Amino acid sequence: MTGERGAAAAQVGQLPPLGGPGQLPAERLVAPRVPVPGPVRRRLAEACDQVDDAPEARAEAGRDWWPLAVRWAVAGLVPALPEVVARPRTLEEVAGVMAVCHDARVPLTPAGGRSGVCGGAVPVFGGVALDLRGLQGVQDLDERSLLAEVWAGTSGPDLVEALEGAGLVLGHWPQSLAISTVGGWAACRGAGQASTRYGTLADLVRGATVVLPDGRVSRLGGHGPRAALGPDLLQLFVGSEGTLGVLASLQLQLRPRPAAELRRAYRLPGFAAGLEACRLALRAGATPAVLRLYDPAESARHFGAEQVDPEEACLVVLDEAEPALLEATAALLDQAVGAAGGQPGDPAWVEHWLASRNDVSALVPLVQAGLVVDTVEVAAPWAALPALYQAARDAVATVPGTLVCSAHPRPTRTPGPRPTTRPAGKPSWSRPSGPGGP
Ligand SMILES: Cc1cc2nc3c(=O)[nH]c(=O)nc-3n(C[C@H](O)[C@H](O)[C@H](O)COP(=O)(O)OP(=O)(O)OC[C@H]3O[C@@H](n4cnc5c(N)ncnc54)[C@H](O)[C@@H]3O)c2cc1C
Repeated sequence: MTGERGAAAAQVGQLPPLGGPGQLPAERLVAPRVPVPGPVRRRLAEACDQVDDAPEARAEAGRDWWPLAVRWAVAGLVPALPEVVARPRTLEEVAGVMAVCHDARVPLTPAGGRSGVCGGAVPVFGGVALDLRGLQGVQDLDERSLLAEVWAGTSGPDLVEALEGAGLVLGHWPQSLAISTVGGWAACRGAGQASTRYGTLADLVRGATVVLPDGRVSRLGGHGPRAALGPDLLQLFVGSEGTLGVLASLQLQLRPRPAAELRRAYRLPGFAAGLEACRLALRAGATPAVLRLYDPAESARHFGAEQVDPEEACLVVLDEAEPALLEATAALLDQAVGAAGGQPGDPAWVEHWLASRNDVSALVPLVQAGLVVDTVEVAAPWAALPALYQAARDAVATVPGTLVCSAHPRPTRTPGPRPTTRPAGKPSWSRPSGPGGP
């Protein structure tokens, strides 16, 4: 898997524009907004070189990729506006801004690429939006220990490029790579498309420098591969979404760039059979980077209704590792698929998946056309998945106007001497919104 910087950015697309230059859009969320008085603004400007209260800056900092906010943007609204946007470029500036806000009791909302889909970067109570994208770059690369210390605002493509030069990869490939940051990945406990081999951010973060709400700086983890003592404060911050402080820099576990690649495609007689094939493969110890099972609706959408039977589920596999490991993985996969009643599929499906894996360019036009499109992620043990899949689809089908509801699971694994598997179902649907919709 490669960065494909330009292509990836184009495929994700852009949020709908907000009004004209110099215009401040109206806010959609109702909540008391905390003003930032003049003296506090002056202190902020002393703490940080770039403090901006221009309408365009405030408008952009007032939203993220929350699907409801995308819909509001079509009507020219933002969820909530900050009074000021601060753009620190050093650890000292981050700490300074946070200390000022803490002293003045002004709310502060950290933001990375604002690619989050839950409104987490929205400054609901006004105050200061802390845009961390200026805090960027790889500070330190330990090629022998395969560790990198990276500033939190580093964008996905910038990190990929920096590591590529050293023949290394992180292995975190979120669909939003082009529009998200390293700090946002950790703050949201992200999982990428290749997480079955590489793990999620919870597995990949080894240490962090954090700034606490009052501006104090603290170092968590990063002392070695393991600690036997005390609770893991680092993991408390991973997934805390800016509520406990700011992740300023992260120590990340790297891997050498993979030597070889394995591609496989399979047909399974139904979604339940596909789940069974994945379960058996992982249970046997295969951890292919990408193990992407599409339910019949998604199979037909991705590969063409004429290519797959109406009840068939397509399984796309991509792995990257040493050839000996890939050979064993391929054998385990063939065995698991055979036991689940499957057979080889069209190898072109893997190409198609690779070419379109980050393509959500249809999303904004669909919303602009009045449709509601959303994704819900749920995690469940293997034993619960078939019933959960059916129950979720049945529930969505009761919503008036539903056009389609489909799913693809993304099995993850917890590293360790005896790996356990933790599959995650991911139903997605689109439907036209009713009058006065969300
Ligand atoms: C098209 C699309 C596809 C996506 N695909 C995936 C995917 O495959 N996997 C996945 O995991 N996610 C995915 N996401 C969701 C999103 O991209 C991730 O959650 C991403 O990790 C957010 O990073 P960000 O830099 O954009 O963070 P933001 O959206 O800016 O922030 C998210 C939250 O983290 C907080 N935050 C951000 N940076 C910091 C920091 N340095 N310190 C403390 N708090 C911080 C913010 O306050 C906010 O609460 C997708 C989103 C879109 C729009």
